[in-house]
Amino acid sequence: MRLITKLPGTRRVSQARHLQAARELAYQCIRCASCLPACPTYGATLLEHHGPRGRIALVRAVAEQRLAPSEALGPLDACIGCRACEPACPPGVAYGAILEHFRAATEPLRPRSPSARCAWSIALRVVLGTPWGLRVAAIMYAVYRKSGLRKLLHRTRMATWLGPIAELDLALASVREPEARCRVRWRVESAPRRPRVALFRGCVQDIVLSHVTAAAARVLQAAGYDVVLSSRQGCCGALHMHMGYRKDALRMAARNIEAFASEDVEFIVAIAGGCGAALKEYGNWVADRPSTDLVPAAAAFAARVRDFSEVLDARALPHMGPVERTICYQDSCHLRNVQRITDGPRALLQAIPGVRYVELPGADRCCGAGGAYNITQPAMSRYLLDRKMEMVRSTGATVIAVANTPCHIQFLMGVLRRKPGEPEIQVLHLAELLDDAIARRRGEPPSETGSDATAHLTVARQPSPPIHRP
Ligand code: SF4
Ligand code: SF4
Repeated sequence: MRLITKLPGTRRVSQARHLQAARELAYQCIRCASCLPACPTYGATLLEHHGPRGRIALVRAVAEQRLAPSEALGPLDACIGCRACEPACPPGVAYGAILEHFRAATEPLRPRSPSARCAWSIALRVVLGTPWGLRVAAIMYAVYRKSGLRKLLHRTRMATWLGPIAELDLALASVREPEARCRVRWRVESAPRRPRVALFRGCVQDIVLSHVTAAAARVLQAAGYDVVLSSRQGCCGALHMHMGYRKDALRMAARNIEAFASEDVEFIVAIAGGCGAALKEYGNWVADRPSTDLVPAAAAFAARVRDFSEVLDARALPHMGPVERTICYQDSCHLRNVQRITDGPRALLQAIPGVRYVELPGADRCCGAGGAYNITQPAMSRYLLDRKMEMVRSTGATVIAVANTPCHIQFLMGVLRRKPGEPEIQVLHLAELLDDAIARRRGEPPSETGSDATAHLTVARQPSPPIHRP
């Protein structure tokens, strides 16, 4: 506990409160080990402290002052936060909440250089943390994309400065031109009025994959909804919560709750499984602050949140033209393990005429994306991605359908890591596939969907970093 006592007084109170909350939740663990087979990091290492049971034991030991927090940080940081351990747990231990409380308590203790701490703080608090930060980032990204800076960066040694972000940035080079963020604005009024939904546009999604947001809006409109985009919404705060920036996450939740409070909409529709899970958990996030009037507002907000696949009925989709592709689907962890949605996306894919749907073995296992996990833990992330891509190739699919932004970007990296002779595979969001099929029925040229696997820059494929196995 030496590290904790070094913190200023107010911080110490906050740390103690979070550790206490984590400890109370951790007591529910009966150490039965049912969760171990579901855990991807345990599967990769076979180390007890890299599985949920071991991590919960470490949290308890820290909270009970039997272990220095620094001893537990490594195994807890190596957790993806995929929450696959939750559905597998007989007593229903709230592992996600334990992890969030632990990270909130220990974030200031994390060994980071001042420059890294400053970079994370700017990225999370300024860029993703404010609507104007997102707007500036979108403009800067558009300039970066069009200016040729990316080519310059990757054809020189400058890319090495970016570390694990370099490969991620390279993967994004294959994404089609983003739809101009400022022009993506629907406020369709129909007479008689149709059911109205608000589309949650997110943060990274809206900057680098805005064509997915546009495709989702077109599909919802074709399915009979009026679609509203609120300009006051911001990032959902999931990344902040998972990384221990709890206060910032709560601030962002409060802003979104306020932004949508005045919107006369039936549902708030999320197209990313991670965002949707966070929005649905706003009520839990603010539950430990019973003195605020945010609690009922958060519960009312969460009750209106739906995943994209929940508001579409596979039996009542608009007419669609044939999409002759072999498609597999990767579950979004937070869509599956938190929102418990598995059948809806699969039914929608199978409803597209011409699609040959193949089930991806291990689709319920994390691809290694995990918010910023592919930046903070690149070795484990790339190891899981390489195993995942082997499974995808074993299905013979030419398209991987996804339902979450980090998974989308992770699979773009997986496609980029293709070895010579391996077939090309496209990564498409479920909304893009539906949008494409609807456009084909109307006789419009098929949408220029997704990524162009051949368009990536010609640079050397980065080798997989080594991963420790016992
Ligand atoms: S399944 Fe649940 S109760 Fe059993 S060891 Fe894992 S977390 Fe603990
Ligand atoms: S959240 Fe995922 S990686 Fe972390 S302990 Fe649970 S199953 Fe393992």
